[in-house]
Amino acid sequence: MKSSWNSKEAKKCKGDLLKLRVYTSCLLGKEEDLVLHGGGNTSVKIKEKNIFGETEELLYVKGSGWDLATIEEAGFSPVKLKALHRLAELDTLSDMDMVKYQRMALTNPSAPNPSVEAILHGIIPFTFVDHTHADAVVTISNTPGGEQKIRDLYGPNMLIVPYVMPGFILAKAIYEQTKGLDWSQLDGMVLMNHGVFTFDHDPRFSYEKMILIVSMAEDYLKKSGATFPRTKKKPRVDTLKLAQIRREVSQMWGAPILSKLDHSPESVAFSNLNDAKKISNRGPLTPDHIIRTKRTPIFFTKNHQKNLNTFKKQYEEYFEKYNSGEQQLDPAPRWGILPGMGSVSFGPSMKAVKIIEDITAHTKKAICQAEHLGGWKALGKKDLFEMEYWSLEQAKLKKAKAKKTMQGKVALVTGAASGIGKACVESLVEEGAVVAALDIDKKINSIFPQKEVLGLQCDISKTKEISRSLKQTIMHFGGLDLLITNAGIFPKSSTIAEMDNKLWEKSLNINMTSHQQLLQQCLPYLELGFDPAVVIIGSKNVYAPGPGASAYSVAKAGLTQLGRIAALELGGKGIRVNILHPNAVYDTALWSEELLKSRAKHYGLTVQEYKTNNVLKAEVTSKDVANMAVAMLGPLFSKITGAQLPIDGGNIRVI
Ligand code: ZN
Repeated sequence: MKSSWNSKEAKKCKGDLLKLRVYTSCLLGKEEDLVLHGGGNTSVKIKEKNIFGETEELLYVKGSGWDLATIEEAGFSPVKLKALHRLAELDTLSDMDMVKYQRMALTNPSAPNPSVEAILHGIIPFTFVDHTHADAVVTISNTPGGEQKIRDLYGPNMLIVPYVMPGFILAKAIYEQTKGLDWSQLDGMVLMNHGVFTFDHDPRFSYEKMILIVSMAEDYLKKSGATFPRTKKKPRVDTLKLAQIRREVSQMWGAPILSKLDHSPESVAFSNLNDAKKISNRGPLTPDHIIRTKRTPIFFTKNHQKNLNTFKKQYEEYFEKYNSGEQQLDPAPRWGILPGMGSVSFGPSMKAVKIIEDITAHTKKAICQAEHLGGWKALGKKDLFEMEYWSLEQAKLKKAKAKKTMQGKVALVTGAASGIGKACVESLVEEGAVVAALDIDKKINSIFPQKEVLGLQCDISKTKEISRSLKQTIMHFGGLDLLITNAGIFPKSSTIAEMDNKLWEKSLNINMTSHQQLLQQCLPYLELGFDPAVVIIGSKNVYAPGPGASAYSVAKAGLTQLGRIAALELGGKGIRVNILHPNAVYDTALWSEELLKSRAKHYGLTVQEYKTNNVLKAEVTSKDVANMAVAMLGPLFSKITGAQLPIDGGNIRVI
């Protein structure tokens, strides 16, 4: 690991201690091998004058809920140092009291809760204190004789602290251990099974001590021959099995969840290891990971149902053995290993899934490296249980936002790059769903920046492209619950007498047959979905066709009939199919200002009159159609199937 210190950047802080603290915290935070997703914490001690003109010494420490990679000045909580010292002198302090008294010692009441390590930061007599969960150091400490290895590597000036729970207990242990000790003689501090602390009056030195300590551990691992396998073998992906697993894990979880396959060369290689089950079953990299990953992954064999039952039983036994009156959390696994395929991460949102995927990728690497040092040896079950059920850790999860209607649901939308399709994707994401957005236009790969959307270029008139896109959807999100089949073309006007055969075929193919193909291929996954539902985007032309539009209207009428039959065939399986008939939606790619002007002129109307030429005199937008489509997929329509709904502001020919 190399120092990223940049004197030019540091100079921009103009010697402001808090700004420098933000700067080096971000340097630490962007290094994934040091901290991941909210792990680690940093602080700076600053003297400030209060409103009475008295000088106070404050500890600006990372606030709860902030991430070192993106932290700002507002992310540091100013706590009176004296109060922290007094807390360290207490014999005992409950978690609740620690949170309370740390808050009471803030000089800014709107600051976030100070880190649970604030007392520890407070007692270290240096201006800058840096703490990370560096993979390399923790890996060495998580092996047999790890403490001796750390001692041999760093020599006598490294303070080594045996594992204790973070928070007051850890601060107190170090407070006692360092009484009468000359801190200036120390190079740093290694907390067994947990991480590293460095400290200095100079921000650069404190930061670079961390980099040095971690580099030494990385070199040590390298010299020990510790490797992480990769494979060139392609994963053997069984998407139906993935969807079945997602369904069953959701049931254990008590709500639909997402499941993402990591089929990177490293992940597949790990899943293929002969002892993958054994070595992955010993515990996490650092104890704070347990709230995200649980203690162990689930190892899937041919009979995944049996694997899940065993996992559940073992989790219940673990809870039974170690609990002291806590309420049991759901027994569902957070990640799993699928031999030959890689690993899967489970979570209620893509954000949660990504956190698990990142953590477990680092964990797998650490496990493989530790196997070269005598074997992976994580913390014992009892300590891990205490961490998993620690109220201050669980509080982090509870901060998640309120659940949305379609949280954990997976949708697929075709024709998603513009108009109604694009609006449907946006409405689904607003309701909490994740969406596979398909379009023939390759810009689909870049128009949705959100991690909740998977843009896939797909020509839905080609069955092979449909199946490839579906496979990618299942690998990325785990299953399929909702389908909006929307893609279509509007062929140029032509009478029956003058109809070009190719034009006719093309319209029928895209506006009708491709929908049938898509629906057919989606069915096995929808059957495994949660409250599965389909919305077909039809057209008012089905009720009120116009001359010259036979190729379009006949295809849409056929598509409507397909939807009605689908409702009959699929109702018994709990899959609802409803049809939406939009009319006169002008904010789509089909309609330019020019075209609108010329059509309006043709009818002797202004553009505004033309746009609102319906019973309600209302303009119907793509967003209106999308919101209705999403409503039809949701609980409001839970008792409705085979229905056709016009969304057109009222059309006398339809009414
Ligand atoms: Zn820590």
